[in-house]
Amino acid sequence: MAKKVLKFGGTSVGTIDRILHVAQIIKREFDADHQIIAIVSAMSGETDSLLKKSKSISNNFNPRELDVLLTSGEQVTSALLAGALIEIGVKSKSWQNWQIPILTEGENSNARIINMNVSKIEKYLSEKGVAIIPGFQGISKNGDITTIGRGGSDATAVAVAKIFDAETCEIYTDVDGVYSSDPNKIPVAKKIEKISYDEMLELSSLGAKVMQSSAVQTAMMYNIPLEVKSTFTNRKGTKIFDQQNIDYTKSVTGVAYSKDDAKITLVGVQDKPGVAASIFEPLSKKQINVDMVIQNISSDHKTTDITFTIKRNDLLKTLQTIKENKDIHYNNLSHDEKVSKISIVGAGMVSTPGVTFKMFKSLARENINILAISTSEIKISVIISENDTLKAVKKLHNAFDLD
Ligand code: ASP
Ligand code: MG
Repeated sequence: MAKKVLKFGGTSVGTIDRILHVAQIIKREFDADHQIIAIVSAMSGETDSLLKKSKSISNNFNPRELDVLLTSGEQVTSALLAGALIEIGVKSKSWQNWQIPILTEGENSNARIINMNVSKIEKYLSEKGVAIIPGFQGISKNGDITTIGRGGSDATAVAVAKIFDAETCEIYTDVDGVYSSDPNKIPVAKKIEKISYDEMLELSSLGAKVMQSSAVQTAMMYNIPLEVKSTFTNRKGTKIFDQQNIDYTKSVTGVAYSKDDAKITLVGVQDKPGVAASIFEPLSKKQINVDMVIQNISSDHKTTDITFTIKRNDLLKTLQTIKENKDIHYNNLSHDEKVSKISIVGAGMVSTPGVTFKMFKSLARENINILAISTSEIKISVIISENDTLKAVKKLHNAFDLD
């Protein structure tokens, strides 16, 4: 009898009708002779609305009390779901974090799950009950209620799958899987049947926000197979697992883009050891995340140009930091905030030569100018003008046979 963890996100339990529907999904799985632990989020919008209430009292609302408040959303849905299951004849029971308990470490609102007690729930599963566990919450060593960061129910599901040694962890959500590009903008984008953890991480950090990245990282660390699927259709979802279990027939799995980047160029920087460090040290001190860096070859051996990219939100802070930096000298400082980053991602590119060339050639054919490039083992990213974003994504999606 396989043990399954099923996680239902906020939209999946967003109304009473939907909760009744989720109960039917669980009943189907339970009738197929599986042991089921279900993890639930709060009803969609609920956590935000609780947060708003706290803010109407104070922008510095007491962190301990904030976690007590925010966990109430998941308490509501876990009780409603257990009640709905009982109503259709499935034995079920919900537990709050402190009843299990789910032990966390670290500060309020950003705690991490470190362990949980399995005995009560294992016993209940063996007595043919469905266990409902609220996502997103835990309890600290000294007994305070904690939360584990926004979107944290994914992390709860993965932790439960690991600690209870479940066979799979299924993430039910409002999309039916991971797509080869944004299906809203690229109608020919296709659902990916199987994807590796690494590719999923690259795609999600690039904007395909289907699952919390840190939860995917944990699943990768412990090799827990995941499946993302829709609560609202019966279609097959996307399976996420180890690269070794995937046969790559294509070099590229997906094309992602982000439109919140900005590019900065320092022209005529001195070409001597330590200059790059002097530019970037103050930025790191201000928590500004630098993404790509390009340094031109210096033709006169005296000066060079350095271009780098950052998040658009950090643009003003970055320009100001550079202007205030007395340790560096340059002729000109320029910036461009109308840029976007296009990335092709694929574990298959490791064994396929010529992917980089093909990407550049495809963009050249569309007359798209590449402003910066960065590569990793399974990803190639370029910065281009924001106006060309969709044209580039469409072209690459087609060039790498993803349409
Ligand atoms: N309810 C929490 C949030 O909205 C946790 C979750 O849904 O995963 O962030
Ligand atoms: Mg979520």
